[in-house]
Amino acid sequence: MTTTTTTSRPDQNRSEQLPARGFDVAGHAVGAGFTLIAGPCAVESRGQTLAVADAVAAEGAAMLRGGAYKPRSSPYSFQGLGREGLGILREAKQRTGLPIVTELLDVRDIEEVAGTADVVQVGARNMQNYPLLSELGRTDCAVLLKRGLSATLDELLMSAEYVLKEGNQDVILCERGIRTFEPSYRFTLDLMAVPVIKELSHLPVVIDPSHAAGRRDWVTPMSLAAAAAGADGIIVEIHPEPEQAICDGPQALRTDGFADYVRQLEAAAQLAGKEFAQV
Ligand code: PEP
Ligand code: MN
Repeated sequence: MTTTTTTSRPDQNRSEQLPARGFDVAGHAVGAGFTLIAGPCAVESRGQTLAVADAVAAEGAAMLRGGAYKPRSSPYSFQGLGREGLGILREAKQRTGLPIVTELLDVRDIEEVAGTADVVQVGARNMQNYPLLSELGRTDCAVLLKRGLSATLDELLMSAEYVLKEGNQDVILCERGIRTFEPSYRFTLDLMAVPVIKELSHLPVVIDPSHAAGRRDWVTPMSLAAAAAGADGIIVEIHPEPEQAICDGPQALRTDGFADYVRQLEAAAQLAGKEFAQV
């Protein structure tokens, strides 16, 4: 089996980027153009999820995100609707045609989650859950692998290898902010990850500005910066009523401002020579 990434440090004298290997997710070529994935942090209810799905589809985003299994810092916080949430996501897909991105937290739920998801998200806290990654490598479901809170890029690439090694080549890497000494925002969004990963790997790289910022008004500028830096896409949280959101409300874009956000993002992606891909 050939491996597709490398542990070597980026060569300071080299500026080549490996051509991104686009792959198909439910008819959408990830890595070829710019892929916008949007949706709520968590599937909270049927009404909330379908309202977001309609907004996401109306603005031509490529995929719908939403967690049915949520990794929460406190075990007393809402943990997600589980199977009921997966059912709501299937309904949202049927209604809008949007492919679904949803998180797999526990390997015991792999059949359920892979049966609903077009892209299975591996959260930052599970980036080094090697049995989970290997198991996903034995499915034919695309994987969105988030960088761990304190993981190096080499560690992220080696985690991707756990999936690739088992035969599943459809891995999307996601930078979502890392822990640094800066306390002014939730995490530091490491946009250097975009050109550096592109030098080390052919895998598509998407940016999650929501979890890094932790605040809605910082999400748009960081999204535009990510697109201009050459990211292959964005995964962003939106909600019809962020004040009522069960989790991550302060960072969620409002559905009624989403059209304007998408127009700005489209222009920034074009700066980097990326066509905005639609379903
Ligand atoms: C999420 O996408 O809702 C999430 C929990 O992300 P992360 O794993 O990056 O914290
Ligand atoms: Mn979230």
